[in-house]
Amino acid sequence: MGFFKNLGKKTTETTNKIAREAKLRMQITENKTKIKELYEQLGKKVYEKHVREEEINIKDFISKECTNIDNLTKEIEKARKEILVLNHKKLCKKCFAEIESDAIFCSKCGEKQIEEKTVFEKAEEKLEEAEISPENKKEAEIVKKELEEKNSEEF
Ligand SMILES: [Zn+2]
Repeated sequence: MGFFKNLGKKTTETTNKIAREAKLRMQITENKTKIKELYEQLGKKVYEKHVREEEINIKDFISKECTNIDNLTKEIEKARKEILVLNHKKLCKKCFAEIESDAIFCSKCGEKQIEEKTVFEKAEEKLEEAEISPENKKEAEIVKKELEEKNSEEF
């Protein structure tokens, strides 16, 4: 019985995954259509200004529409990433090929896939090494300051 129970569970998981992926792919298609429409509107506006030679200000219109495109593009990127995660895949850091999420080397270009540690992770390690005790408090403070400086450099 256990086998069938597990099988049922697995099927549900797979169905959910497929449904989610389908939804994400639909969102990507919708966003692409919206972006295409925005491009058209932008082009039309620019052409109108050119033909009429009127003193119309299209600067605000353009910047607003470009922001819309940016947001739609971000949503597409997010959906694409989620699809990769759903399928236990990731993109190679060098050639952007789809590879297994736990792959150490890219199967296409051979690039080693090292997860770059964030500044915070590095600092946490340093703090752990420093073993914060009363006499090490000063050291911890120095590390913390170092981190803050590094962080402000990065952004
Ligand atoms: Zn690669």
